[in-house]
Amino acid sequence: MRPHRAYSPGLTGVLPWEEGYHLVEVLRARVGDRFTVFDAEREALAEVVDLGPPVRYRLLEERRPEREVGVEVVLYMALLKGDKLSEVVRGATELGATRIQPLITRHSVPKEVGEGKLRRLRAIAVEAAKQSGRLKVPEVLPPIPLEAVPKVAQGLVAHVGARTLVREALDLTKPMALAVGPEGGLAEAEVALLRERGFTPVSLGRRILRAETAALALLALCTAGEGR
Ligand code: SAM
Repeated sequence: MRPHRAYSPGLTGVLPWEEGYHLVEVLRARVGDRFTVFDAEREALAEVVDLGPPVRYRLLEERRPEREVGVEVVLYMALLKGDKLSEVVRGATELGATRIQPLITRHSVPKEVGEGKLRRLRAIAVEAAKQSGRLKVPEVLPPIPLEAVPKVAQGLVAHVGARTLVREALDLTKPMALAVGPEGGLAEAEVALLRERGFTPVSLGRRILRAETAALALLALCTAGEGR
């Protein structure tokens, strides 16, 4: 069997149904095959002991790889049209976000995320965490109105025309709250409200980025670009 990481909350020795199905039906695992299991805290080498269902495994060797940014990274992302949030959730997970909070903003075309879509976004976060070697799967929360964003210790809001650069505003020791607007941008009143809540408007360069590109660029500057 090719190398594989399976998400198994609590490392209980029993795989969740979808994980077991993937291991046995897609990867054709056999008893004795080795793979990696992980949850939010731990990662371990495991061996299949029963093909089930449910698939059972035993832990062979525990590891604690450091793959997290080191501070909380919350992405406040305006709701976007179509399936663009999927792209954001996938990339944000790879880039170390710890929480993804969709926002209903004045110019967001969609005004809600249905239960089915939320489940799919959460499944994408699990997939991306597996693929990127993370132990923590970021929370993907139901949307809230922009007005409900709390006061933050350190916030950056990507805003077209802002003068401040990310590196000028970013303090790597503090939790990060990052905000990005929808296709139609944030209204000035919304940016003003975010300022009051502790967000500094920052530029992402001279070009106008698609909202989903902007989210990943902002995250990349705060995490990957800092080697975190
Ligand atoms: N006409 C809109 C405006 O001026 O805000 C364009 C919105 S842009 C397509 C979507 C979101 O991406 C913006 O609300 C902002 O958060 C972010 N964004 C895109 N390009 C940016 C840039 N060069 N600097 C900062 N933020 C940017």
